[in-house]
Amino acid sequence: MDALGELYSELILEHYTHPRNYGDLPGADRVEEGYNQSCGDRVVLLLKLRDGRIEDIRFRGYGCAISIASASLMTEHLKGRTIQEARAFAQEFKDFVTGKREKLSPTLGPLALFRGVGRFPMRVKCATLPWHTLSLALEEKDASYEEEVT
Ligand code: ZN
Repeated sequence: MDALGELYSELILEHYTHPRNYGDLPGADRVEEGYNQSCGDRVVLLLKLRDGRIEDIRFRGYGCAISIASASLMTEHLKGRTIQEARAFAQEFKDFVTGKREKLSPTLGPLALFRGVGRFPMRVKCATLPWHTLSLALEEKDASYEEEVT
């Protein structure tokens, strides 16, 4: 498969057309919004935290297939995880799609399909938007998204 074909793999399209954990989350503890200016993707993350864990997670928003599929797959991998694990996953995924990291740990296995985006800098922002929004939701707001990925 060529790089672009790899980008829009079946799984990405499937998550794009049927996003998991999409919708409202009444009683959410954290609500964070992320916007990717270069593509127009917007993601709103809603988190319910309990005892240092992500008890529940949903997202809303709109955007390209890459950003929506990334958000959908991300939420699938985060439910029940500790906040610390979630932060580590976010870093791992960002390092992976930007080429700083060769492989993903088995836990994040299916997310390896985003490898192809590394060849398309514009698409890297789409794939990392949900994860960046997650980092903001879980940490102090000190880093700007634009600064981080350019
Ligand atoms: Zn996008």
